[in-house]
Amino acid sequence: MRCGRGMVGLSCGMISPAQTLIVSGIRGADSPKVCFVGQEQLIVQIEIEDQKPIEEVLRDREQELSLLVDMVPSHLWRLTQDGEPTFFNKRMVDFLGLDVPDTDKPGMSRLEAVIETVHPDDAAEFRDRLNRCLVTGERFSMRYRLRRADGVYRWMSSHAEPLRDHDGRIVQWYGLCHDIDDLMTAQEALRDRERELSLLVDMVPSNLWRLTPDGETTLVNRRMADFLGMDLEDKRQLAVVFDTIFHPDDAGEVEDVLGRCLLTGDRFSMKYRLRRADGVYRWMSGRAEPLRDQDGRIVQWFGLCHDIDDQVHAEEALRRASERLAQATRAASLAELSASIAHEVNQPLAAIVANSHACHRWLSAEPPNVERAKITAERITRDANSAADVVSRIRALFRHAPEAKLPEDVNRLISEVCRLMADETTAKDVRVETNLEPDLPPVALDRVQVQQVFVNLIRNGVEAMDAAAGSARAIKIRSYRDGPDAIRVEVRDDGTGFKDPQRVFEPFFTTKQHGMGMGLAICRSIIESHGGRLWTANNEPRGATVAFTLPLAASETP
Ligand code: ADP
Repeated sequence: MRCGRGMVGLSCGMISPAQTLIVSGIRGADSPKVCFVGQEQLIVQIEIEDQKPIEEVLRDREQELSLLVDMVPSHLWRLTQDGEPTFFNKRMVDFLGLDVPDTDKPGMSRLEAVIETVHPDDAAEFRDRLNRCLVTGERFSMRYRLRRADGVYRWMSSHAEPLRDHDGRIVQWYGLCHDIDDLMTAQEALRDRERELSLLVDMVPSNLWRLTPDGETTLVNRRMADFLGMDLEDKRQLAVVFDTIFHPDDAGEVEDVLGRCLLTGDRFSMKYRLRRADGVYRWMSGRAEPLRDQDGRIVQWFGLCHDIDDQVHAEEALRRASERLAQATRAASLAELSASIAHEVNQPLAAIVANSHACHRWLSAEPPNVERAKITAERITRDANSAADVVSRIRALFRHAPEAKLPEDVNRLISEVCRLMADETTAKDVRVETNLEPDLPPVALDRVQVQQVFVNLIRNGVEAMDAAAGSARAIKIRSYRDGPDAIRVEVRDDGTGFKDPQRVFEPFFTTKQHGMGMGLAICRSIIESHGGRLWTANNEPRGATVAFTLPLAASETP
């Protein structure tokens, strides 16, 4: 309200005769009205809608409505009761690039002209449905693709409702059509991604499953379904899948462990047997981990189980094989040991028998040669002691007693053995030459065992030269320092040389008529038990060499 003079809180009674009151309306400006109240003159300019002509108000209303209709972020259209379009809102006009008058085409209804803008794949259904609704008066609802002015089709979600008069007769139809193309594209992309993921899940070369936090199965991948012979479409099978697939011997444990994991949230991991579609149980390695939400609550469980049946059987076969091997090795060790005992005891026994005969001969001689008989008797004692030594060593072996390895002068040991074997070598017309490096550091060794090695090697050399024709019959023994950590010994002969060098260490390999084929094998194991190495070589132009090393004690190395 605007007053001609000053702003006051007005009521007619407060206005003096000289005052003029002007009242402005909200809209437009009519010519001011002059009123008289008693003597007082009021000039009042009042403009209110109610006082406008009704057509004008209606026109205003229509304009407002039309603005509103154009502002609606959807397509709005109106059809006659027969389905002839009579109105498109601006948004629809802009989209289609045509207004109602543009649908007036010769020989074609307006509706058909609109249907022309529907995608050819959707047009027939659109027509059918709309026509049916026009006949029955039912609400129309459909998704279809509509061609935009630039020729691009976009998905629409369209609805139409009839407007009825008081008698229920349809007067016209109003249609609303939303552009849902972005939504559809997003949904399609989501579906594509879902399809890709599900393909991936099915392609994983393992069985995958998903459980609710309570342990209810909600998914198994194609591979697992094929393995179990399950129909993935049949959700009832999914509900009971875990009840039937485990081997009876494993089912209880799986249930316990899985149940505990579901309670505690710990990772599940165990091996069990699963029944394949053909009824065969196969070993699986199963694992499952919980997926948690932001608050740490378990949302679901994801499991993976991998077929390890072949691996389990291979391991089982390997275990059985190694058991058999261990048995065989024990048997072989026993055989080797027996042979070794026989071999080691046999040598002094043979010497005792030979010396007993000799002793008998010396005593039976006329006159009896008591001196020689005494010497022979001493040898018998020595050999008997040697046999006793072997036996006590074997007993020590069975008692797991540590071997007596004491620091020994290897050169002295060689000389002793040479003296010990002098009779034998002389009888065979074999010279034993030694080339021993002086001042060799002592070596920790079991003297009886290493003596045994020398005896074996010298005897083999003598026998090899026996078998070979030739005048030179010498065994050369050389000892020398082999680097800072070892002593090397070589026993060389002029015999036949090794005929089958690859096999000489094989137990029971022998080329001799009365050989046992254990000598070199035992020599090598004795040297190896001292931390050394023993090997053979043929000499040029003839003969053989057997060499071995013995390590020096750490304190002896410079
Ligand atoms: P054995 O002497 O009872 O046959 P060994 O294990 O000591 O058992 O020897 C195995 C084989 O190695 C012998 O049969 C022989 O063929 C060969 N051999 C061993 N030493 C020599 C050597 N010095 N010269 C040639 N061949 C040898």
